[in-house]
Amino acid sequence: MTLTRRQMFSTLGLGGLMLSRGGAVLGATAQAPAAPTGPYTVPALAYPFAALEPHIDAMTMQIHHDRHHQTYVTNLNNLVATAGAAGKMPLDEMLKNLNQVPENIRTGIRNNGGGHWNHVQFWTLLAPNAGGAPTGAIADAINGSFGSFDKFKEMFTAAATGRFGSGWAWLSDENGKLVIHSTANQDTPSMENKRGIFGLDVWEHAYYLKYQNRRADYIGAFWNVINWAEVNKRLKG
Ligand code: MN
Repeated sequence: MTLTRRQMFSTLGLGGLMLSRGGAVLGATAQAPAAPTGPYTVPALAYPFAALEPHIDAMTMQIHHDRHHQTYVTNLNNLVATAGAAGKMPLDEMLKNLNQVPENIRTGIRNNGGGHWNHVQFWTLLAPNAGGAPTGAIADAINGSFGSFDKFKEMFTAAATGRFGSGWAWLSDENGKLVIHSTANQDTPSMENKRGIFGLDVWEHAYYLKYQNRRADYIGAFWNVINWAEVNKRLKG
C-alpha cells in the first residue's frame, strides 16, 4: 500500500500545520546530483588487511586500499563522466592514448586512471604465505634476463630506491624483452609502451606508518609477500 504524504501525516495524527511546514522544508531541499559510483570500483582484497603482517602492517593496508585507492577511483569516475567518447575506452587504452582525452582533464585522468590501474595490480601481487625465490616461468625469465634472482633483486631495489619522490618500480615487458624501470607519480608502464608485469608502490603512503623514511626496509620486506603465482599469470599476459 502506498500512502500519499497527506495520508501518512493524517495517519500519524499530524495536523495541517505540520504538513505545510514539512512540505516547505522538503520543497526547499535541492538535491545535488549524486556523484557517479562507477564505472570503476576498488576491488576487494583477497586477504585480510592484517594478512601481510609483519611485512606490511594492517593499518597501512587499510588506509592504502580504502582511502588512497578509493580516492583515485572516485576522482576517475567523476572525470570519465565528462570525458565524452574517450571516457568510454577501456582504461588501459585511455592511458595509452591520453592525447585523445580532453586537455582540461588529461592530467586528472593520467594521475587517477594510472593510480587505479597501478593499485589493482598491486593488491593481487601481494599475498600471505608468499615470497621467497620465484618459481615457474618467471624464475627462468629472471635468470635468463638478469643472471640470477639476487642480481635481479639488486637491480629492482636500485630502481625502487632511486625513484625520487613518489612513484613505482617495475618489471615490464618491452618488445619481448624484460626490463627493470621506474615511473613517476601514478604513471603506468603502458604510458611508456611497456607491459607492466609487476610494480611496487614506493609512494610514502605505502610504507610510512611502519617504516617512516626507511624505504629500503620496505622494499626488502616486499620480497616476503610477493605472489609469484600471480606474477607468472601476468608474465603470460
Ligand atoms: Mn599507493
